[in-house]
Amino acid sequence: MSELIEIKNGQLRVPDNPQIPYLQGDGIGPEIWQAAQPVLNAAVKRAYQGRRKIDWLPLLAGERAHELADEWLPQQTIMELKRHLVAIKGPMTTPVGTGHRSINVALRQTLDLYACWRPIRYFAGVPSPVKHPERVCIDLFRENTEDIYAGIEASADSTAAQSLKKWLQETGQLDRVRFPDTAAFGIKPISKEGSQRLIQAAVDYALKNHRHYLTLVHKGNIMKETEGGFKKWGYQLIEQKYAKQALTMPRLEKIKKERGEAVAQQVLEQAQAQGMLIVNDIICDNFFQQALLFPEHFDVVATMNLNGDYLSDALAAQVGGLGIAPGSNINFQTGCAIFEATHGTAPQLAGKNCANPTSLILSGAMMMEYLGWGKAAEMIRKAVAQAIAMQKATPDLVPAAAALSTSQYGQFLVELI
Ligand code: NAD
Repeated sequence: MSELIEIKNGQLRVPDNPQIPYLQGDGIGPEIWQAAQPVLNAAVKRAYQGRRKIDWLPLLAGERAHELADEWLPQQTIMELKRHLVAIKGPMTTPVGTGHRSINVALRQTLDLYACWRPIRYFAGVPSPVKHPERVCIDLFRENTEDIYAGIEASADSTAAQSLKKWLQETGQLDRVRFPDTAAFGIKPISKEGSQRLIQAAVDYALKNHRHYLTLVHKGNIMKETEGGFKKWGYQLIEQKYAKQALTMPRLEKIKKERGEAVAQQVLEQAQAQGMLIVNDIICDNFFQQALLFPEHFDVVATMNLNGDYLSDALAAQVGGLGIAPGSNINFQTGCAIFEATHGTAPQLAGKNCANPTSLILSGAMMMEYLGWGKAAEMIRKAVAQAIAMQKATPDLVPAAAALSTSQYGQFLVELI
């Protein structure tokens, strides 16, 4: 008999036979899920000798839900996700410009999954466009519920745009809009609570996993109140809650100013020797450049929704592409979490049995870790590393003539486990 995962006093309680929902997704979603599911089952079975087992619960969303129930995201699906706390999903289509709003964004907002944690790691043997992909070992924490993803937009010529223009006129800012008659507008909410809970998740992760650096990435030089606020509130939180475990750059700058450079250098070296977390910040465009040139300077990164979206794809490309990049969306307070591949539905690959299911499989490994099933997670990662090192992988990673299909690759991983 399967049971529900629960959260009690902030601790996740995971039965040996939990029921876990899955959403296959659109495009390549069903085929990568069919390859991934047996790999996850095999790892759990082998790691715990049959003592633990996942009872998978299929849920409807996306194109299939629209076909069957004329709804993109049925209420029943949201209810089941809330009831079960932990789930895994494939990618979902989002039309550009017109059509329904993103189901991914709707899920993150409805379930308040504020932390999008994406680990970016290199597997030896994966082709990469950079000389030293092995230097990338970054955990990106992207705020998932705010920013322009709130979807508050006013189309050009709408009454909402007229009202906004009126407000801009009254506050003397309309001349900052270059073409007011044809401008559409978007609103970017960034709050202290929203920023701090995300940054707290990143700090907790960094401390628990003995990472050395936390970097706050923002564009506060231009968006002073929103992105600048993120940085300011981040440093405030760390000074208030983590002063003994973390050393921030503003604190170090203050020491430098008051007591000189030599003392500041000594304080920094001492903090490093004691294993304190060093927290700094960087402007987003510079981060893109630095992460490409010196990825080893970064461990854990915390940023807002849009920056995080761009950065995680760029970092994934550095280690060999979206096909191997896992992700998660977590609310560390309610325990609710959805694990998902970072990539989209790859419509041009759909139905061809050639898409790479690794991203979803590694998202499954992250889910195991989250459940406290570290041994199963380790087995999955080891099998993926082994298969790639043997050049047994899908065509995005190995030459087409020698490549395995999606299903063959999944089967090969099951055999390795
Ligand atoms: P995409 O991630 O689907 O594809 C980008 C590129 O990566 C393509 O060249 C594709 O072939 C390749 N790729 C992606 N996944 C792959 C895999 N598993 N194996 C091998 N190659 C892979 O991005 P897109 O084309 O911009 O978006 C397509 C659709 O997916 C859109 O509707 C978009 O809104 C949606 N999308 C959904 C999610 C999500 O559900 N979380 C994320 C991103 C995009």
